[in-house]
Amino acid sequence: MERQQHRADVVILGSGYGGSIAALKLAEAGVDAVLLERGSRWPVDDTGDTCATQTAPDGRAAWLSETSPLTGAKLDVCTGVLEFVGGSDMNVLAGTGVGGASLATNGTMCEPSPELFRQTLGDVLDHSEMTERWYPQARELIGCPQTSTSPISTARPARSPTS
Ligand SMILES: Cc1cc2nc3c(=O)[nH]c(=O)nc-3n(C[C@H](O)[C@H](O)[C@H](O)COP(=O)(O)OP(=O)(O)OC[C@H]3O[C@@H](n4cnc5c(N)ncnc54)[C@H](O)[C@@H]3O)c2cc1C
Repeated sequence: MERQQHRADVVILGSGYGGSIAALKLAEAGVDAVLLERGSRWPVDDTGDTCATQTAPDGRAAWLSETSPLTGAKLDVCTGVLEFVGGSDMNVLAGTGVGGASLATNGTMCEPSPELFRQTLGDVLDHSEMTERWYPQARELIGCPQTSTSPISTARPARSPTS
């Protein structure tokens, strides 16, 4: 492999939501920044088979693992999109690849209640500034529709077609 040298004022590790937004904002501000990503780039095309499915996972589903982090199915070892990190009292799934965990997200965007927000972040960030300014901006950028109530709290039990 050819060795290259590159100097930059800022080095960002990881191209998930955090790293890629930081890279965008720094580039817009004219700062010389480099973003490094350990995982692969997964080009999306019209065939729709960029990713493995949950029911038929292959090596693309897991980061350097012989088993699927979701189903335990046997896999070819590959630099796939999800890393499983086992802990003593908690297991963690982490995204790996250009785009980070957005490659494997469930596609939901939830805004925490003021209580939950403060319980987690204290007064480090202002909840009302988030709800008035930043959450709407993120929703608009991502293009996600908004529901005013939780679909979970208002969901009715599923009925079978014959009941
Ligand atoms: C399966 C799954 C489903 C999810 N669904 C949702 C959802 O529906 N809604 C929601 O809001 N959130 C969801 N999340 C959570 C959300 O994806 C994360 O909160 C978010 O991606 C975190 O962003 P991040 O930039 O901090 O990290 P990540 O997106 O995890 O990005 C980190 C990046 O850093 C790279 N990296 C790590 N170490 C190095 C290194 N040493 N050198 C170079 N690169 C490195 C990784 O490969 C990865 O690409 C989900 C997460 C998972 C795993």
